[in-house]
Order: sequence, then structure tokens, then C-alpha cells
Amino acid sequence: MTIADTAAPALPDALSPGRLFIGGAWRDASDGARTDVVAPATGAVLTQVAKATLADVDAAVAAARAAFDSGVWSGLSGRERSRILRKAHDLIRAHTEELAQAESQDVGKPITLARVVDVEHSALQYEYAASLGQHLDGSVRETPGNTHAYVRREPLGVVAAITPFNFPLILSSTKIATALIAGNTVVHKPASDTPLSALLIAEILQEAGVPDGVFNVVTGSGADLGDRLVTHPDVDKVAFTGSTEVGAHVAELAGRALRPVTAELGGNAANIVFADADLDQAIGAIIPAFVFNAGQFCMAGPRLLVERPLYETVLGILEQAVPGVPFGDITAPDTVIGPLASQKQLDKVADLVRQATDAGARVVTGGHPVDLDGGFFYAPTVLADVENDNPAVAQEVFGPVLTVQAFDTEEEAVALANSTPYGLASGIQTTNLAKAHRVAAKLDAGITWVNGWALLDPSVPFGGVGQSGFGREYGPEALESYLRTKSIVFNLDEGAGR
Ligand code: NAD
Repeated sequence: MTIADTAAPALPDALSPGRLFIGGAWRDASDGARTDVVAPATGAVLTQVAKATLADVDAAVAAARAAFDSGVWSGLSGRERSRILRKAHDLIRAHTEELAQAESQDVGKPITLARVVDVEHSALQYEYAASLGQHLDGSVRETPGNTHAYVRREPLGVVAAITPFNFPLILSSTKIATALIAGNTVVHKPASDTPLSALLIAEILQEAGVPDGVFNVVTGSGADLGDRLVTHPDVDKVAFTGSTEVGAHVAELAGRALRPVTAELGGNAANIVFADADLDQAIGAIIPAFVFNAGQFCMAGPRLLVERPLYETVLGILEQAVPGVPFGDITAPDTVIGPLASQKQLDKVADLVRQATDAGARVVTGGHPVDLDGGFFYAPTVLADVENDNPAVAQEVFGPVLTVQAFDTEEEAVALANSTPYGLASGIQTTNLAKAHRVAAKLDAGITWVNGWALLDPSVPFGGVGQSGFGREYGPEALESYLRTKSIVFNLDEGAGR
């Protein structure tokens, strides 16, 4: 099959090809190497970006170190940094179309979602971080004797910000904006498959007035560059989002270097639907929770737990509704489900669904790749009659796949929801608010949504427990992880300090 007249606009000049952004200047990799960026919607090469070398990583860290030590950014007041980040927010909004097109073509996101979710949330992150610049105050402590003690909150230094392929713009924005408002400098390494929006953000931050060297981008392979970046002696903090496997490796390296690290890792969230739920509202939470971003969504809700009296009803509704969710052409304004982000991701999802059906899962709808214009499409899939050890239940699928299990009691629902090593997100659909509070307190997850899904705000902390990692992004909690405290105590005795 082909999509008629698919004509995505040309990418901006800065992406044709994309280059490294180091010390405020654009440059090729030190050995001139480039790597292809593939469009998931067609499988064709979209553009190329520089494939950084270890020498480029060293140069980016050196630029960030020099900028930090010079005080050109850390020496500004929070209010001054705030003004610059607010300008960055304005520029992100002004460049919505350019950013959305790059993100859409690079990741395979439907264009409307790239505009209203990815660019919008990125802008909100900068706006919120800018507001935190007004609240970087230290504090005075009440100490005994003739002393005066106060606590300063200071930036850490150079932050290595490493992000995954699925939400490049949003996930980099939360790290970059929070690190910058705290006064740090940043070396950002976007995922090798989806590096484009990071380069546009570099242009925007420069135009907003972020001084040279404060923000740097290196593109290329995480396997080749990651260890050097994480262990570089001039890096002071690692902010990582990605898979549990790579996150554990990164945390181990950072731990050995006694370097603070935040790790936002994989997820496998349960969405619990009680028999007293408002069914229309529940379905409105269930479907986006597994099809949004083609299911490549750390906070997706791929494990649906339905109280037995509603089980067959819910399956019947999903069988009818899911095939009707607009699918395919990412340039069409109403498309909701686009392709997976890479052939590797498509193969992984197809393999996991095969394993799931081999283990006894019943395909309610979907269950197969879709041949469309050479892209990496997989039909939205609902699997019923699954046990807890079915591979599609036990593993993070990271594709548009929903498993549906029945439960009989509240205790069983909680036990099933918590029967995963992950703990990023969870959901409860019920009209009984006392039950919602009771169950929410028992779920092992960093966030629980009641009567909805993915209700996110930059002010609300987000992060995991267990194999979903540690540390929080969003909210004042995130700011704290980009600051350190210093205590200063004066002896005020007569004659002291003279
Ligand atoms: P990944 O772990 O393969 O890659 C993440 C980043 O790490 C990429 O930039 C990659 O280049 C880099 N990397 C690879 N090897 C490295 C190394 N040795 N040292 C340092 N960096 C290295 O993850 P992915 O496949 O891009 O993303 C999908 C995963 O991310 C899923 O598991 C998903 O759940 C998770 N994720 C989590 C969150 C969250 O907030 N918790 C958000 C989005 C995605």
C-alpha cells in the first residue's frame, strides 16, 4: 500500500545535514563521519547528522566546563537566567511548525500530535523552569551561640543529558531547561535514531541569549560515546532517560565515579478498571494509553486489568473501536497512530506478539505489521486470555499492544498491578473515590492517574520506582537534583574576622 500525495515539508537548513553544536559553533565530526537519519514513515533516508567521535565528546565537555567555570551563566542571577529561558519558550512557540515537522518526520509522529503534545510540552517545560528561577533562594539557619549560618543553593557544574528515541523534544527539554535554570551547563546526547529536534533547540537557545558553551549537542552512537560522556572527569551530573538495561549500566559507571545520576527508565504500567467505572470515560483513557506514540511511551498503559463483570464488555468495545482509530499518514491532521520509530522496534514488537500468541494469547484485534509506504507500521493490537507470565504481559513491549486480564477483588487488582519489576505509572478507573485513594496508595509506581491517563504537568513530579529508575523530573523536586547546597557559618565573636 502507499499513501497518496504524502508531501512532508523540507527540513530546515540546520538539519541538512545536522552538525555538532559545540562552544556556540556548528562543526562536523572530527573525522568528518556522518550517520543516516531514517524516516520511520517511509523507511527512506531523511537526512544525515554528524557522527561524533570521542574527541568531539571531549571538546563538548571542555566547552561546557569552560563556560561553567567562567561564570558567564552560573554567575547570572536566577532572575536573569529566567528571562533568557522565557525567551527560549517564546521562540519554541514561534517555531512550532518547524519543530513539529522535524519531530514528526524524525520519530514518525502524526503531525498534529507533534504540534499539540511534543512542541507544546517542550514550551511548557521552558516556561515552568523559567518560573523556578525566581525561587533559587538559600536560607538562614537558627544556630546557637554567636554564629550566623546560611545555606546557599549552587549549580552542580556540567550536566550530561542523555535521552531516548521516543520523545526527543519533551524529554530533552525537561532536563535542559531545569539544568540551565539552576545555573549548570549542558552536553546533550540525543538518541542516535532521533537527533533532529536537539539541533533546532540549540539554535533556539543561542538566539534566546544562552552564552556560547553553555549548551552543547553531540549526535552519534550511544554505545560509542555514552561511556566517555558518563565517566568524563569534567562531568558533574548525569541525567539519563532510556531503557532499564542501559540505565543500569550508566548508573553503575556514574556510581563508580561518585557522580550524581538520575535514571528515568522503562515501564509496564497497569490500568485498573473497576466495575463501577464510567465506561465511556474509561475507554477514553484505555485506548490512548496504549496507542499514543504507537505505544512507544514509557508511561503507556499496556496492561489492562478489568473487574470480571466488565471483562467481555470491554473486550467487545475494544474490538469495535481500536481498528477505527485513525492510522497511517503522519502528515494527515487527524492521524493518531503512526509507525514505530525504527525497523528494529517493529521487529521487536512483532516478535513479542508472536511469542505472546504462542503462549496462548487470543488476538482480539490487530496482531500484524501493516505494509504502508515502506514505513515501520504495526496494527494496534489487543490480546486477551493472557496469564501474568505471558511475554507481552511480563515484558515492556514498547509498541501499540494492549493485554487484557480479568480480576475479581481489589486485592487481586493491586497484586496484579504490582507484579512487575517496573514502577513508573499506573491508572485507576472508578467512580468510587474512596476506593481510588485506597488503591492509589498501594500501587508501586511513581505516579497514579485516576479516571484518565498521562495527565502531566511540568509542576507535578514524574519518575519511577524499582526497575523504572530513581530521581524525579518535573516540579521543584527536579530542580533540587540539579543543585547542591553549601553551608556557610560565621563566627560573630567580637574581634573574629578582623
Ligand atoms: P536506550 O537505553 O537504548 O537509549 C537511551 C539513550 O542512551 C540513547 O541516547 C542512547 O544512545 C544512549 N546510550 C546507549 N548506550 C549508552 C551507554 N553505554 N552510555 C550512555 N548512553 C548510552 O533507550 P531507547 O531504546 O532509546 O528508549 C526506550 C526506553 O526508554 C524504554 O525502555 C522506555 O521505557 C524508556 N523511557 C523512559 C522514560 C521515563 O521517563 N522513565 C521516558 C521515555 C523512555
